[in-house]
Amino acid sequence: MAIKRAQVVILGSGCAGLTAAIYTARANLSPVVLEGREAGGQLMWTTTVENFPGFPEGVLGPDLIDNMRKQAQKFGADTRFEHADEVDFSKRPFVIRTSDAEYHADSVIIATGATAKTLGLPSEMHFMGSGVSTCATCDGAFYKGKVVALVGGGDSAAEEATFLTRFADKVYLIHRRDRLRASKIMADRLLANPKVIPLWNTAVEDVIGSEEPHRHVTGIRIKNLDSGNVSEMAIDGLFLAIGHKPNTEVFGEQLAKTEGGFLLTRSAMAWKGTASDPAWSETYPNYATSTSSEGVFACGDVVDTHYRQAITAAGTGCASALDCEKWLESLHKS
Ligand SMILES: Cc1cc2nc3c(=O)[nH]c(=O)nc-3n(C[C@H](O)[C@H](O)[C@H](O)COP(=O)(O)OP(=O)(O)OC[C@H]3O[C@@H](n4cnc5c(N)ncnc54)[C@H](O)[C@@H]3O)c2cc1C
Repeated sequence: MAIKRAQVVILGSGCAGLTAAIYTARANLSPVVLEGREAGGQLMWTTTVENFPGFPEGVLGPDLIDNMRKQAQKFGADTRFEHADEVDFSKRPFVIRTSDAEYHADSVIIATGATAKTLGLPSEMHFMGSGVSTCATCDGAFYKGKVVALVGGGDSAAEEATFLTRFADKVYLIHRRDRLRASKIMADRLLANPKVIPLWNTAVEDVIGSEEPHRHVTGIRIKNLDSGNVSEMAIDGLFLAIGHKPNTEVFGEQLAKTEGGFLLTRSAMAWKGTASDPAWSETYPNYATSTSSEGVFACGDVVDTHYRQAITAAGTGCASALDCEKWLESLHKS
């Protein structure tokens, strides 16, 4: 198997990984970017992105990613369609294995993202980005004056459903149980909103839509879990708010994670008020995007339990690259 030496290996090619690639490439660090099985990341699933700064008319998700990749390549990033199957962060150089090669890296930037949980229906994937969405903040504004349904029952579902009432005329809230898991204050606020119609003990069985004049959703088939009754209802959009799964299995126990498996970085620890943990503050200097392993940095949705936007992923991708660059420089000084 080919062994390749690199100053920086970046895992992931969404907004975070490609932004980190642009910055590290411009710093002459010749980054290797392993794009993973979903080259381009989550934005490849969407059509128009209207909230990425610099595009007053909006930009297609795949076009935005394509441009980021070209920009990184222009400055010397080596982008490869490979997936990290195994890593060893126990000593330096760090080792990353793919099916094609073994990389020995002085530093690693992890930008492996997170995957929104879905219902497991083939139809929901067919209409993903064309009427089915996993991000109300991203797509809510497309549903002004329309009827939407949101599946979920936790705090983020309550937050996203409340956000949707700013645009949609009606928001059906579909939940498998007979009450929300969200905190009482959020649940009360949501259910007091006259635009919100809860459908308790209900599951979505199918997403219905049309290909004409373009792919779009026209309704859903739902099942009442108490009575077993199946019915169809007309809606214009379906939002899923049933959680996210960070892509961190490959790191096993080698890095500190939240209970939900998101990578912990120094800035996340500071945000949670635990940055004074001696294990984090004394072992190595103050790099906000550093993981629990010195020389391994993380950015984007893989560390983000809250914002999950293209611009925040790009922003932390930039921060990771700058942290990584300073840390590598500190090695040469000492
Ligand atoms: C349908 C949809 C629409 C959206 N619309 C908007 C919008 O309009 N505006 C907005 O701001 N945000 C939007 N978002 C959210 C936005 O896409 C994410 O916040 C952003 O993509 C996160 O970027 P990331 O680089 O952290 O991770 P991701 O985009 O998730 O990329 C992760 C990358 O890691 C790679 N990877 C995973 N495991 C490995 C491995 N083991 N080895 C190597 N690589 C690996 C994957 O192949 C992928 O390239 C949308 C999301 C979705 C799903």
